[in-house]
Amino acid sequence: MTTENIATAATAALSTRAIHAGQEPDPTTGAVSTPIYMTSTFKQDGVGGLRGGYDYSRSVNPTRTSFDKQLAAVEGAKHSISFASGLAAIDVLLRATLKPGDAILLGNDVYGGTYRLLSKVFVPWGITLDVVDITDPTAVSAALAQRQYAYVWVETPSNPLLSITDIAATAALAHAHGTKVAVDNTFASPVLQHPLQDGADVVVYSTTKYIGGHSDVVGGAVLVDDDKTAEKVAFLQNAAGAVPSPFDAWLEIRGLKTLELRVKQHSKNALAIAQWLEQHSEVEHVWYPGLESHPGHDIAARQMHGGFGGMISIQLAAGGEAARAFAGATKIFTLAESLGGVESLVEHPAAMTHASVSGTTLEVPDNLVRLSVGIEGVDDLIADLDQAFAAIAQ
Ligand SMILES: *Cc1c(COP(=O)(O)O)cnc(C)c1O
Repeated sequence: MTTENIATAATAALSTRAIHAGQEPDPTTGAVSTPIYMTSTFKQDGVGGLRGGYDYSRSVNPTRTSFDKQLAAVEGAKHSISFASGLAAIDVLLRATLKPGDAILLGNDVYGGTYRLLSKVFVPWGITLDVVDITDPTAVSAALAQRQYAYVWVETPSNPLLSITDIAATAALAHAHGTKVAVDNTFASPVLQHPLQDGADVVVYSTTKYIGGHSDVVGGAVLVDDDKTAEKVAFLQNAAGAVPSPFDAWLEIRGLKTLELRVKQHSKNALAIAQWLEQHSEVEHVWYPGLESHPGHDIAARQMHGGFGGMISIQLAAGGEAARAFAGATKIFTLAESLGGVESLVEHPAAMTHASVSGTTLEVPDNLVRLSVGIEGVDDLIADLDQAFAAIAQ
């Protein structure tokens, strides 16, 4: 057995898979780190004489293949297909598998960009989009009984309110109606949550976030077990071209190798900070699935393994103005969109990541502040939040 075979076995530990799957040392030189194959095209040994199937880098590139094998092994999925962004992954998945006249049932708390893509691009293309509280099985059942949906689209934990959906229960409901379940697993990452094992049909990632993990690359991926779906997605990826560059793929490979270590530390730091915030008089509400006060805590405790992730949202008692001031008053937490990097970030969703859902049923509270808790020393992070509360109280 080669290292690769051992590392891709589902019985290998997640970190073993992350470090070795798809990472066989370069056959020519023995390079331990996968080379960045910065080439658009590949020499053919006579017409059609491809070496290892490589012809043109929109279709296939060895660095990307290495990342796809690595992420598929970490997820325990048969196929992983990587993209130039998370939204490109979602776009290609849906265009490859839907046709005008089909319908999607969407949760009422999702990443603003996902809602923008669905409502502003897919609806005009002829897709029906219905929005429900996806965490509520009664509401999901009622919707499924009303209309035939191609997909139930689940984000859990959701962005930005960290609501929790029971993946297995939702899959059971959806499958009874011949509907597929797609899970955006970006917040949990493959370390904490395994939607395919829980019954979902498709997993998507913005690999920009925890998988890349260092705020230095934008990327996405679609993961499925079903060969036909993978074939359709790969076909449209090649036909339309939203591929990650070899360098992007290399950054994702490097990030994924340390994902488990990082996510466990993100989760540990976030839990300590959420517990501290819950005691703070300036804070009206803390949204973190690791807190017993969270309405989805019991499901999260069952469905997430080894932590509850690094994302926390808080609502400030003093309102929207205070939330904006707070987001600008931290010193270690950097005011910026995005999440999942080693460094802590803070943002005001209503004006930033979720500005595109303003005025819709997905609108987020104006007094909400979202924290992406990094892996710095937790005492330094708490001290930073404390000084920001003090600064805005003056
Ligand atoms: C960021 C994000 C996306 C979009 O990914 P990009 O890489 O920015 O295109 C999709 N879903 C969730 C949950 C996200 O946080």
